[in-house]
Amino acid sequence: MPEVCRRHAVVPCQKAMALGLLLVFLMLSLPGQVAQAASVVNDDDKLLAGCIATQQLTVGGAGIRLSYTPAGYALTPQQICEWTLRAAHAVTQYYGRFPVTALRIVLQPAAGSGVSGGTTYGASEFGTALIVIQLGRDADQSDLLRDWVMTHEMVHLSVPAVPERSHWLEEGIATYVEPVARVETGELEAAQIWADMRRGMQQGMPHSGDSGLDHTPTWGRTYWGGALFCLLADVEIRRRTDNRKGLQDALRGVLAAGGNIEQDWPVQRILDAGDAATGVPVLSELYQRLRAAPLPADTELSELWKSLGVVGEGSHVSLTDAAPLAAVRLAITQRRSTAPPR
Ligand SMILES: [Zn+2]
Repeated sequence: MPEVCRRHAVVPCQKAMALGLLLVFLMLSLPGQVAQAASVVNDDDKLLAGCIATQQLTVGGAGIRLSYTPAGYALTPQQICEWTLRAAHAVTQYYGRFPVTALRIVLQPAAGSGVSGGTTYGASEFGTALIVIQLGRDADQSDLLRDWVMTHEMVHLSVPAVPERSHWLEEGIATYVEPVARVETGELEAAQIWADMRRGMQQGMPHSGDSGLDHTPTWGRTYWGGALFCLLADVEIRRRTDNRKGLQDALRGVLAAGGNIEQDWPVQRILDAGDAATGVPVLSELYQRLRAAPLPADTELSELWKSLGVVGEGSHVSLTDAAPLAAVRLAITQRRSTAPPR
């Protein structure tokens, strides 16, 4: 889960000295391909072939360029392209389009296997948004198939940068949307992510001394407290709209209003854009309730699981469709894309 995801921020070019040195190194170490504008293609095989040949692909209206040295990895370029494509498809499915029009993804070789971290920036020396991911030199296909970092970082592209005290909103959206988006494309099973959420959300609950989401910048409250805000909002939007709208509509509304990581927005502007898209002021009301108070209470969370039909603990979580809000749960994690996951 997202303990390895680091701070996300818009980095003004003139201030990003360390990052600049890294990028110069990577540019010098790239193969000698000349950058060309990615053409729009619909077929995944063509997309994949283009990505393997040029390290570029176009997904959801975005030109994405990968920067890495193939010789530095046990993985093949095809596996790396498929991993990128899988994440880009999930994010495009969730938002209806890719959140930015141009993106650079820099893969940094790391010791060992697996994906050990990632950071997303709204601006970079490339003139585009940037994702930097630490990918193990010995990583294999199974590491990529269970990776959540690439999708998590791409979800960050959809959220405007907010003041530091509300960083939980950025991480909460990325933590909550990542598995839901992957369920929508069939990459993950709904039952698995409800079990993960049942366990994870507990880590986002307030402890003694908590002063609300805007004033308690711990790991648990930032990632899982933010994700819990998203779940509470999703359920309440669906409850008030007879399950016609959800958080997905709100977040698409933010993007449609011009909000993405390339923008600095106050929290309220994001919430207003989301609320306008659903027609119910759930985000604003929930923010007022949770921003400066140690909420939700334990009883509220246990009632939430009960009403959604998520029962049990740990590895014994099961789902029941007899619960009053089971239809809401089913709508949140409904598969929506017929494209096969790669
Ligand atoms: Zn993150």
